[in-house]
Amino acid sequence: MVNKIFLSSPHMSDEGYEMEYVQEAFDTNWIAPLGKNVNEFENEFAINVGIKHAAALSSGTAAIHLALKAIGVEEGDIVFCPTLTFSATANPIIYQSATPVFIDSDEETWNMCPKALDEAFKKYPNVKAVIVVHLYGLSANMDAIMEICEHHNVKVIEDAAESLGSYYKGFHTGTIGDYGVFSFNGNKIITTSGGGMLVSNNEERINKTRFWATQARDQARHYEHSELGYNYRMSNISAGIGRGQLKVLDDRVAKKNYIYNYYKQELGSLEGIEFMPNEEKNKSNYWLSCITLQGKVRPFEIIEALEKENIEARPIWKPMHKQPYFSEYAYVGKNVAEKLFENGVCLPSDTKISDNGLKKIVEIIKGLW
Ligand SMILES: *Cc1c(COP(=O)(O)O)cnc(C)c1O
Repeated sequence: MVNKIFLSSPHMSDEGYEMEYVQEAFDTNWIAPLGKNVNEFENEFAINVGIKHAAALSSGTAAIHLALKAIGVEEGDIVFCPTLTFSATANPIIYQSATPVFIDSDEETWNMCPKALDEAFKKYPNVKAVIVVHLYGLSANMDAIMEICEHHNVKVIEDAAESLGSYYKGFHTGTIGDYGVFSFNGNKIITTSGGGMLVSNNEERINKTRFWATQARDQARHYEHSELGYNYRMSNISAGIGRGQLKVLDDRVAKKNYIYNYYKQELGSLEGIEFMPNEEKNKSNYWLSCITLQGKVRPFEIIEALEKENIEARPIWKPMHKQPYFSEYAYVGKNVAEKLFENGVCLPSDTKISDNGLKKIVEIIKGLW
């Protein structure tokens, strides 16, 4: 459809950086997984977020899966996972035949509540791994979460799929725990049309990840396999797009920040609207601008009013413990995530949005008051 305003859609650089790298891959016939773009994208990405090692993979979901494997999560192991997230955070726990326990959010960060995490450790002392998510670019309370996990000697995976470009107390999200996961899906702040990255300071584990991701081929002239393998590597074409996109990440964060501030200025004083938390010490990438509604206007009314004008908005993620597929698994918390889901709206946060587009959106929303 023409002139649709999206929630968040791919935005290639004006300079054409992505095409240069893709063209180079064509010119050298590296139209394959592996190749120079993959190696360089890994290096450039690791430098960008300030970590030692990075493995480029076919998706963020694959990165979570291999992070769980790298920690040694196996059948029957318990993994703590935030309930307020996209299902891709939780699915790989099931791929490993492990058991998720879902943890509630807190109001200060919308992410994993340290108190609920503490409580969960009391109920389930034998936990193999904890996955923390930085939803919509907001940092989880990493100091408190890391302290609890270190006390229990449990490894931490940060799902930073939505938070590339966000900082927690000066550190890039995704570099604080034992493993960090990023996604380059089409809706993320930068995209490779599909892809992911697993990062860690543990060189041996990242090398092992690359091994698993290329069908676990042992060193031999023939095809020799002593472990289960996966076809999870990023293609050299996708990595070329990623190298170009990385150059405009700061621009994308700046535009997302602009969009957030615009909404806050225009809508912040409407009765019953509250904006997502925004702590000064933690610099968000503002991937999506989100609000919650306490007054008479309900989330679906905003979503429907925008939809009529061909503008995309969405509810907040529906908690995992409320999903039919995951309902049999345990949940620890006080229903904070459920309230965020019931009252929340993700506003259009596409970086290609014009000032006229933003103006139209706030006019439609103000019209409901
Ligand atoms: C997008 C996303 C993922 C999955 O990434 P893919 O690259 O699409 O597999 C995981 N977790 C969260 C929170 C996400 O938003």
